[in-house]
Amino acid sequence: MQIGVDLGTTNSVVARLDENGDPEILENERGDRKTPSVVQFPDEGGVIVGTTAKNNRMTAPDRTVQRVKRHMGDEDWAVDIDREEWGPEAISAEILKKLVEDAEEAAGEDVEEMVVTVPAYFGPKERNATVNAAKIAGFDEADIELLNEPTSACLRYGIGDTDAGTVFVYDMGGGTFDATLMNVTPDGGFEVEGVKGGQRLGGEDFDDELYDHVRGEMIDAGHSDPEDNRALKADIYEKVTGLKHNLSQTESGSIAIMVGPGDSFNVDLSRDEFDEMTEHLVDETFDYVDALFDHEKVDAAKEDVDELLLVGGSTRIPNIQERVEDYFGMEPSKGVDQDYVVAEGAALQTELEPQGGGDGGEGGGDGDTSGKIVLPRDIGLKTVDPDSDKETFEMILSEQTSVEASESKRGFRKVDKQSPKITIEILEGGKALAEENDKLGEFELKNLDEGSDPEFEVTFTVDEEGKLHAEATNLDTGRTAETTLEIGLTEQEIEDQIQRSEQKHADTVTRD
Ligand code: AMP
Repeated sequence: MQIGVDLGTTNSVVARLDENGDPEILENERGDRKTPSVVQFPDEGGVIVGTTAKNNRMTAPDRTVQRVKRHMGDEDWAVDIDREEWGPEAISAEILKKLVEDAEEAAGEDVEEMVVTVPAYFGPKERNATVNAAKIAGFDEADIELLNEPTSACLRYGIGDTDAGTVFVYDMGGGTFDATLMNVTPDGGFEVEGVKGGQRLGGEDFDDELYDHVRGEMIDAGHSDPEDNRALKADIYEKVTGLKHNLSQTESGSIAIMVGPGDSFNVDLSRDEFDEMTEHLVDETFDYVDALFDHEKVDAAKEDVDELLLVGGSTRIPNIQERVEDYFGMEPSKGVDQDYVVAEGAALQTELEPQGGGDGGEGGGDGDTSGKIVLPRDIGLKTVDPDSDKETFEMILSEQTSVEASESKRGFRKVDKQSPKITIEILEGGKALAEENDKLGEFELKNLDEGSDPEFEVTFTVDEEGKLHAEATNLDTGRTAETTLEIGLTEQEIEDQIQRSEQKHADTVTRD
């Protein structure tokens, strides 16, 4: 069977199409429709994923990983488990494995192919890391398709079936915020026009505000600081999250924190107070939205938006809904549960034509449903500013550029004039100083050494799969060299991680 997977920061959801072609959520082993994206490596061996891992996280915080999605594509991030490094791909692979295992159990069929959703702000590195996670989970690249989350929401809402137009998707989940502007082409395809997002802005920041508030009240009342008591802190977080959810329904609520045997501390809060203490977070989301519409590569204005979609659990917060409605002067589309819209859209995509390129070329001719993407951040190279001698970022491809895109710049010279080759370091981020950006990789261009101080032209191309090609030309000689950048894990590293994961799972069997 084919499944759609919403591999979320906080929770993950799996859906497939039923015999009528309608999306249906596949429940996990516990009968839940959502599986917490939490991975735990117990001392005694094996791997635990989901609710049990989440509930046990306080017993082994150093061996429990949450919110790994925030680290996708970060090659420097890893958790150390028994002197072995587990990177974001390897951890995400464990979540995928569990989702697939439970889906197979629920449906009584093997999963052969899957559509995995990613935020539109995922750039080449993060997309590549997601594909590698699926490979470590045992899938061939040909059996995995990535789909942008906002596009998935559009599919679920049936946008594109009827009219062309401009769609804005405001997506706030547990840990991330994503603002996406999309064009629906007359043939029903989707093109991302622009995207802005924060990998560290989401519902959990609202929880943090509430926790800080409760903590302050407790200290003021003479109770001990919950920061010094892990279990108490976890209890407060649990309760404030519940309070936040209630305040989406009611005008006020309260929680009781156990501070001693038979002794509880009560906190009352109105929705207005909650809105006030979290307004700055909502403001931050609109800073992103404003920046998106202000960007020179984004043609549409907010007045051009024909359809408004809210995605992610945090968009249940009434203040967010009101602010979005005020900003656009229109009501968002309603009717699909925010928690399942992305997975259900991914299930619909399983039956549709994949994005161009790759091996998905059969039949069709209809719109490109899985959608043209844009670069979420500037991509450029490291260069040395001749005036200050500082290492700086030189932009080649600007953010919001639609891929497949190609841009060239000339005026580059060898830093080391004696060297027979040039080394090009590719950076992503758009910050002035080279070191403030993320390094995507580097490559050497040999045989370009003729001439004492030749000038080079550098061209970067991002293809429709998000792969980056670089080319440099010696303008004195016309000689050219090119490469395709390998981002992230090598095939050997993926193979090693497959083995390691299998070993961990074998441990589990022995332990049972
Ligand atoms: P997601 O990543 O889309 O599953 O979103 C999860 C986030 O949505 C978490 O931070 C939840 O606390 C938040 N959330 C879920 N339901 C509600 C609600 N009724 N009101 C406010 N926030 C909610």
